[in-house]
Amino acid sequence: MINIQTINWQKVDNLLPVIVQNAQTCEVLMLGYMDAEALNKTLVEKKVTFYSRTKQRLWTKGETSGHFLNVVDMALDCDNDTLLILVNPIGPTCHKGTESCFSELQTLPDWVFFSKLENLIKSRKNADPDSSYTAKLYAKGTKKIAQKVGEEGVETALAAMAKDPDEVVSETADLLYHLTVLLQDANLNWTDVMDKLKQRHAGIGLHPEGSNK
Ligand code: AMP
Ligand code: ZN
Ligand code: ZN
Ligand code: ZN
Repeated sequence: MINIQTINWQKVDNLLPVIVQNAQTCEVLMLGYMDAEALNKTLVEKKVTFYSRTKQRLWTKGETSGHFLNVVDMALDCDNDTLLILVNPIGPTCHKGTESCFSELQTLPDWVFFSKLENLIKSRKNADPDSSYTAKLYAKGTKKIAQKVGEEGVETALAAMAKDPDEVVSETADLLYHLTVLLQDANLNWTDVMDKLKQRHAGIGLHPEGSNK
């Protein structure tokens, strides 16, 4: 976490700027200020409390909306005058309803989009089969899901053989989507697959294809 003794309160006029970042997606969510009391409350409750310059009082983010920021970790910057907090946000952080107060500017890296898609696919597991295609797939069971992955794999291979770039992209998208459903059906996440790839990368040279399957 942090050593609060090192904070340079004089330099910041007793209001420490705090950058809040989503621990999962790395999105910058908002910026606020903390006095010593707000920081203390945040450390004790593990929920972000600011000193609101507008309200001129302690302000626990989410106090009326329920959209709290649950603290995962925090660190001071190189010269101890700015705090970075990693959080798991409950609901949208901006009072205008977007996840981030900076959503206008932020373009998410593709992997963040993919991870959000994975979460959505995961959330369909207990959904009514009539409510979505993904929910229907889960309901049909592992065999059907495995079949779809096989089909889309073959279609991707055929598109490659046909040297049709649009088809390759489109079939790969189908394949990745269905693979995500297959993983979720097996209670696995893409991070499990990434861990395996990392292991191989660190292991037998830098060439995963050189290792045994
Ligand atoms: P909340 O803390 O989410 O319960 O919201 C309470 C009030 O704080 C809102 O009505 C806004 O005035 C203000 N507020 C909430 N979220 C933000 C934010 N991300 N940035 C600035 N002001 C906010
Ligand atoms: Zn600094
Ligand atoms: Zn906002
Ligand atoms: Zn397809």
